[in-house]
Amino acid sequence: MSVNNTEKPISELKGIGPSRTELFGKLGLFTLNDALNYLPRSYIDGTRIRKTSELSDGETAFLHLKVVKEPTVSRIRKGLSIVNVRCEDETGGINACFFNQPYRKTAFCTGQEVYFYGRFSLKGKRLAVQSVYADKPGIMPVYSVCRGINQRLIRDVIASAWEKIGGSLTETLPKSLRMKYALPEINFCMENIHFPTSVEAMGEARRRLAFERLLNYFLRLRLYSDRLKRSNGIRFDTEGLYEEFSALMPFELTRAQKRTMRELEADMQKALPMNRLIQGDVGSGKTAAALYCMFIAVKNGCQAVLMAPTEILAEQHYTQLKRLFGDKACLITGSMKKAERDDALLRVRDGRAMAIAGTHALFQKGVEYKRLGAVIADEQHRFGVAQRAAIAQKGGEHDASTGGRLTPDTLIMSATPIPRTLSLFLYGDLDLSVIDELPPGRKPVRTHIVPESRRDDMYGFVENAARRGEQTYVVCPLIDEDEESSDLRSVTEVFEELSKKLSVGVGLLHGQMKKADRDEVIERFRCGELSVLVSTTVIEVGVDVKNAAVMVIEAAERFGLAQLHQLRGRIGRGDKQSYCFLLGKNPEQNERLNTLVKTADGFEIAKKDLEMRGPGEFFGERQHGASDLALLREYADMRTLKQAYEAADSVVDAANTSEYAADANEYAADANEYAFIMRRAEKEFEESSMRLTLN
Ligand code: ADP
Ligand code: MG
Repeated sequence: MSVNNTEKPISELKGIGPSRTELFGKLGLFTLNDALNYLPRSYIDGTRIRKTSELSDGETAFLHLKVVKEPTVSRIRKGLSIVNVRCEDETGGINACFFNQPYRKTAFCTGQEVYFYGRFSLKGKRLAVQSVYADKPGIMPVYSVCRGINQRLIRDVIASAWEKIGGSLTETLPKSLRMKYALPEINFCMENIHFPTSVEAMGEARRRLAFERLLNYFLRLRLYSDRLKRSNGIRFDTEGLYEEFSALMPFELTRAQKRTMRELEADMQKALPMNRLIQGDVGSGKTAAALYCMFIAVKNGCQAVLMAPTEILAEQHYTQLKRLFGDKACLITGSMKKAERDDALLRVRDGRAMAIAGTHALFQKGVEYKRLGAVIADEQHRFGVAQRAAIAQKGGEHDASTGGRLTPDTLIMSATPIPRTLSLFLYGDLDLSVIDELPPGRKPVRTHIVPESRRDDMYGFVENAARRGEQTYVVCPLIDEDEESSDLRSVTEVFEELSKKLSVGVGLLHGQMKKADRDEVIERFRCGELSVLVSTTVIEVGVDVKNAAVMVIEAAERFGLAQLHQLRGRIGRGDKQSYCFLLGKNPEQNERLNTLVKTADGFEIAKKDLEMRGPGEFFGERQHGASDLALLREYADMRTLKQAYEAADSVVDAANTSEYAADANEYAADANEYAFIMRRAEKEFEESSMRLTLN
């Protein structure tokens, strides 16, 4: 009964008509169950009421205030009005402000008591109010939303969904696991995820959710690696190829590159499919290893694909493939024109295309390989197990002895250094090669934390660099649409400001731009016509412009260290001295940012990040959604990760040894439950890799 209810469409809820149904569809919310599983991005703790005297600049907080004067409204400039409400608490006065909401003027009167949530700025003792409450607020979830859906609407929908199905959800974790790890029951969990009754209850709920998802992830990982171990790979002949390949490279390979290539070469000779991870800091030259892997496959008459997380990077790879493989090179991305794409698909199907670069479009419906021998995923932490399985299923050569297909070799590359403690859990099934050496002649990037007061000096530096012919990236964080952006500048704002301020060519690049426009901007930057590129983190992965020697990172405190390190790796690629400037809220006091100033060692930085922010950072970015773990960013800690890993072991063991079950009743119950969740994981795994393959 509850099962059916959870699958009911959200359009059955009050207030959800066709247009809202469509909007929610964009967020992936179709059923009541989807609504409940839409997890908050963060929480605002309204149980902690702060005092005006203890606020520091830039902080967001709840205040309990008394209105002391009638509100006033003032027009700053055309299109911007501010309603100012003078308030106070026992510790002092504060100016509560509402931007562009003139109706607020009549909403408050002298003597009234209110709860405000907002961002405090020391200048003018101002609170930029984000929400107003008549009663003492509780703990409030904050969801990711899109245009047309605000926090109130999504909270309402989730609340109505809960009203219909809450309390009747069927437990999905075996009781023994819940007991062993003290995890709350599912209804308690979902209720406290969306409507926390206390900080503690919310913490328990989040722990359970993280545990369950990680457990499923580990089970899928097991299933995948077991399957891989049972499958037959291709024995590649590598005789003389290394010499031939290295002669084609425009540079001398580093020792670490050579070692890595020898390791993957040895894998490729074996009948067992290769399942290897290359970790190497940004700029360490992983691409050369990928190209060698493709070279071996192609020389053996097999196709090889190189998959990148962004189109920009895929296109860059394609340029390299053309150089090495001539007209056997090919590109497949999602935004290609139909005619172009059809042609590419045909060439892949009939085998004219042998070395293929692309995005995840490489393994979507309609892409058929003639003889796939090797698959390389660049920047792997964005690809989940399901994706890996889906590509492997695309299959290679026919195996005459079994009639089945041979499994292609897979090589995964990651520039995000992952501390060993964590990578054992996340990528423990992979063999590891480490490129721990940078190509010669690189000068470490000089990194500085720049106080707001020196911003103009910094721009002067950027202009001077441009006169010397050195280019600059200006990186801005993504801003959620619902976010109060009074002190955060969007990429477009920064671009407009710099276009006016700087006397050199400035370009704008972000993910929402049309592909043609993006291409044009990148090309203009690459060829030097633009000196400054204002961008979101779309440049994070792999973009390679040797002349770029300066990077400015806005609101640096919003990024993870590993990500900042990755960004910084975009510069310092030529022989010039490069500079990275970090801007942001109180950056001088930021211990994390100081790590970046002090060290250039990616592993060192990653360790610090893990210590200070927990493992979430390493699960990939939410916006990419592709990672199995993206949702867990804010949910999982190391302890839960270890517990889920251990639990996965016991589930696999128990599911495999069902003969014990006959003896002990207690154990039999467990084993059945374990076998059940194992089967469920298997089913989910099949479904998700099917969804990705679909042909
Ligand atoms: P990664 O993908 O590991 O971040 P890339 O493969 O993009 O790094 O290489 C970074 C830059 O270094 C590229 O411009 C590449 O041509 C260059 N490069 C790679 N290996 C060497 C080498 N052995 N000697 C000199 N330059 C190299
Ligand atoms: Mg790379």
